[in-house]
Amino acid sequence: MKNNDEPFYNLKEEDIQGEVKFQIDENSFKGPFTCHGEKTVIEHKAVSYNGMAFSYSVWRCRKCKKEYLDASQGKRFDQMVMVKQMLEGNLITMQRNMNFDGKAFFFRFPKELALGLRKEDKVELKLLSADGRRFLVEVKPNLS
Ligand SMILES: [Zn+2]
Repeated sequence: MKNNDEPFYNLKEEDIQGEVKFQIDENSFKGPFTCHGEKTVIEHKAVSYNGMAFSYSVWRCRKCKKEYLDASQGKRFDQMVMVKQMLEGNLITMQRNMNFDGKAFFFRFPKELALGLRKEDKVELKLLSADGRRFLVEVKPNLS
């Protein structure tokens, strides 16, 4: 039984692996949602893996305790699951040769991953380690 008076509590590992099903309301991208005739309330949660703490929030019905994720909460939850998989070494990994043109280092995207890419896209690197050798790479559409 979870103590709901505590703002933060640890989830079981299975919770993150998707055994807890969150209700995602497709018509509403932002909470609070309405459940049992009442507005859901925001609840902050924290979970830790390998000594790293992650926090996220859900909308919870006070009556049935059902948890809802809105679009931004869902995105954060997805990112948390991704980081967890990365920590556990469960991500699909591809190795590329480093290239050097005399000035800059670069690598080529695998063909299979390049299908949806556009020359105008932006590549965002998020530094994951202090030695500068570990990144998270995200290709984003160029909105400017
Ligand atoms: Zn409810």
